[in-house]
Amino acid sequence: MNPDTVMPDVEALVTEATNAIAEATTTEEIRSVGAAVTGKKSPLAEASRALGQMDPEDRKVLGQRLGEARGVVEAALESRRDELRYAELAAEMAASRLDLTEYVPGSVPGPMARGHLSLVTQTRDSLEDVFVGMGFEVAEGPEIETDWYNFGALNIPPAHPARGMWDTFYLHLGEPESTLLRTHTSPVQIHLMEQAVLNGTLPIHAVMPGRCYRRDTPDARHLAVFHQIEGLVVDRGITFADLAGTIETFTRAYFGPDIHSRLRPAFFPFTEPSAEFEVTCAICRGEGCRTCSQTGWIELGGCGMVDPAVFASVGIDADEWTGFAFGFGIDRCAQMRHQIADMRALIENDVRFLRQF
Ligand SMILES: [Zn+2]
Repeated sequence: MNPDTVMPDVEALVTEATNAIAEATTTEEIRSVGAAVTGKKSPLAEASRALGQMDPEDRKVLGQRLGEARGVVEAALESRRDELRYAELAAEMAASRLDLTEYVPGSVPGPMARGHLSLVTQTRDSLEDVFVGMGFEVAEGPEIETDWYNFGALNIPPAHPARGMWDTFYLHLGEPESTLLRTHTSPVQIHLMEQAVLNGTLPIHAVMPGRCYRRDTPDARHLAVFHQIEGLVVDRGITFADLAGTIETFTRAYFGPDIHSRLRPAFFPFTEPSAEFEVTCAICRGEGCRTCSQTGWIELGGCGMVDPAVFASVGIDADEWTGFAFGFGIDRCAQMRHQIADMRALIENDVRFLRQF
């Protein structure tokens, strides 16, 4: 060995490089550490350059040590680079994961209001409860109806003037038959009677709640989309007295024992005779006030004995069976019971109004 040659401390270079590698904490850092310990200006590169001035024997020994050192440093670099890359990926995935449990009401710190059923739904439910308690079943039907179910079968043929008061939204006009948004829950009566005739399951005692549509401009007492509940009884020996008794029993059960009902003659194409039914004004308790125009009564709905023409359209023998039907607005009922001045409040979604109920 040439005595002038100073052999670099390869072990120290390796230790220094691997320490720097171990201390890197991000992939960004490991990239600059990599350049510093293996690049052109690194101590290892400097030492390699010195090989040129060495005699062949020293060059061989040092060259081999430097080669091994470079291998060790590069392996450490690669392993640390993988480690950091994996850690960063895992952190990124954890941060971007959507934690659905975060949105469960009550699991998030801070105030989160709980909703409740709309007043219309609450009213429908309590009306159903009263009628179920009186022995009625609850039935439902489609909101899109054919002309026949909404009008024809209910004794309202085409061009009948009564169609004017039930003008609605037509989805399809003409052949094979017009379809429309139902204007009342009465088509469900037709479906029920057809089914009962088909299956031989008469008599019928049912109420039919549901959403209805009319081409009304919304005002304090009308909505274009509203809710109705309708009742139908078909049995042997049913009389007008059964109808009046049912209306009175319902009125007292729902509004309270001091609220009564009365019937006044009216006309509907699907009942004969027909009546409008009124209940005691809940505001003045029958004394007479502005809301009831000093009469002490408020109109709630319509009713009557099922018209034999309706029985004929579903194939029920009107000599053997008789029946009555009644119907009224659920929204109107909620409006009366809670003395809501403007019915539009029911659909405006103002929580200050809704949370009162
Ligand atoms: Zn009154």
